[in-house]
Amino acid sequence: MNKVKDRCEKCNLNFHIEPSFYTGSMYISYAVGVAVAVTAYVLSLIFNMQLGPTGILGIIIISLVVLMPYIGAVSKSIWAHFFLKYNPEIAKKVSNDSRT
Ligand SMILES: [Zn+2]
Repeated sequence: MNKVKDRCEKCNLNFHIEPSFYTGSMYISYAVGVAVAVTAYVLSLIFNMQLGPTGILGIIIISLVVLMPYIGAVSKSIWAHFFLKYNPEIAKKVSNDSRT
């Protein structure tokens, strides 16, 4: 689940710059999970659902379980963006290669 490709298909960029690189994304997924929980709570207030504490906990757990694959993917993407930089010259070269 949520496998990251080894290399970019276009520019051959190595997405795994060291072993267990994406383990660090669990810190990001914690933050994203908190954001999802807060969003679920605020949505329950906006739609005026009369949920008690147990109902709110339930709706948060359900939304976290349902969104788990997306939270993992988004977290890995955010984590990779901290370390992998966009290089305009390589991007330009790649787009030139694909035109020919
Ligand atoms: Zn690329």
